[in-house]
Amino acid sequence: MTHAQDPNDALFDHARALIPGGVNSPVRAFRAVGGTPAFITRGQGAYLWDADGRRLIDYVGSWGPMILGHGHPAVLEAVHRAVDQGMSFGAPTERESELAEEIVRHMPAIEMLRLVSSGTEAGMSAIRLARGATGRSKIVKFNGCYHGHADALLVKAGSGLATFGHATSAGVPEVVVQDTLVLEYNDVAQLEEAFALHGAQIACVIMEPIAGNMNFVRASIPFMRAARELCTKHGALLIIDEVMTGFRVALGGAQSLYAKEIAGFAPDLTMLGKVVGGGMPLAAFGGRREVMEQLAPLGPVYQAGTLSGNPVATACGLATLREVAQPDFHARLAERTRALIAGLARAAADEGVALCGDSEGGMMGYFLLPELPGNYTEVLQSDGARFNRLFHGLLERGVYTAPALYEAGFVSSAHSAGDIEETVAAARAVFRQLASA
Ligand code: PMP
Repeated sequence: MTHAQDPNDALFDHARALIPGGVNSPVRAFRAVGGTPAFITRGQGAYLWDADGRRLIDYVGSWGPMILGHGHPAVLEAVHRAVDQGMSFGAPTERESELAEEIVRHMPAIEMLRLVSSGTEAGMSAIRLARGATGRSKIVKFNGCYHGHADALLVKAGSGLATFGHATSAGVPEVVVQDTLVLEYNDVAQLEEAFALHGAQIACVIMEPIAGNMNFVRASIPFMRAARELCTKHGALLIIDEVMTGFRVALGGAQSLYAKEIAGFAPDLTMLGKVVGGGMPLAAFGGRREVMEQLAPLGPVYQAGTLSGNPVATACGLATLREVAQPDFHARLAERTRALIAGLARAAADEGVALCGDSEGGMMGYFLLPELPGNYTEVLQSDGARFNRLFHGLLERGVYTAPALYEAGFVSSAHSAGDIEETVAAARAVFRQLASA
């Protein structure tokens, strides 16, 4: 007897014959959680539909950009209009300056910026700029933070502070990562020691202010303060990677939250992506004027892009930013996101499952742990098998979450109180199964 193949399985088989792993970015392949990825046919508001015709409540939001949900009318209208005017010119347009102005208005640490097409490009370019502007080569990053897949950033810690990192990908020569020092997140003493040993050679410290690539881990205030002070003291640049957090956790990004706690706090350079492009390939890096003026054509640091500042992408980003800049946008989004985390925590406690979570604006994370972790080593103590059962249990009940333990989740302004209730009810049923297993 033959069985009709599930549409997602059939599409996955087809894709795997043509595209490595069947996906164009590894985490989409469900390798960590097992099973067949949902092939998405369309999105509207808070929902996605897959090839099986299932409706899913979407907490991935394209990994962050879709802060307004899918198909927001103002964004669609702006994009349709832009498409009609032309797809790409490779020449300056007024809209690039309008978008730059909108970004600068909300993030005062950014005096000038340049548009690129992905967060990876933003990170790669920010690091080249930091090295070019300081004339130094060493960079400091933190274990568990992701800043895109540029060679110098695909590194894991070496042994001890005196040794630099090892490449985490084949194809990255050791010489390319030998100037990258990988430290533990939130470890002030280690950061101080690194500067004591290498301070005069460090071009920059790069960090996620709320690390969404280890699910959800905040930089502590003392850690952020130490990073700022050490960079200033030793003449290094502080690069805050707000690809995930920018316009997502607050209108002014995570840096606006740290600036409330740390007098005079500002990064030298900021990376943006995801929300700033509203779902189109658009990202940016920017910061202090005298640093940004080191870029070609003004200065000696080369950086370029055929599609940089693409007119359709800038229309999409601009329309998205105008929506998120509406009064109370983030307050409402934060309230909804907090309601979800509180609901999950309550349902887990009722069913006897250890769970803790945190959120800021429309970004959130939860762990099957009794307490929130403060660094990657602690995140790794989560029970992966249990997480996978939670993931699949939610998916079976129509709730689409990130298919990996190390990823933050996202709530959009299109998620209703009813969506949150439906999600919590689904989670409660899964927690009951987890507790009884
Ligand atoms: N930085 C951070 C904090 C990210 O989360 C990501 C992507 N998840 C990147 C950089 C890289 O962005 P992209 O995938 O657009 O290259």
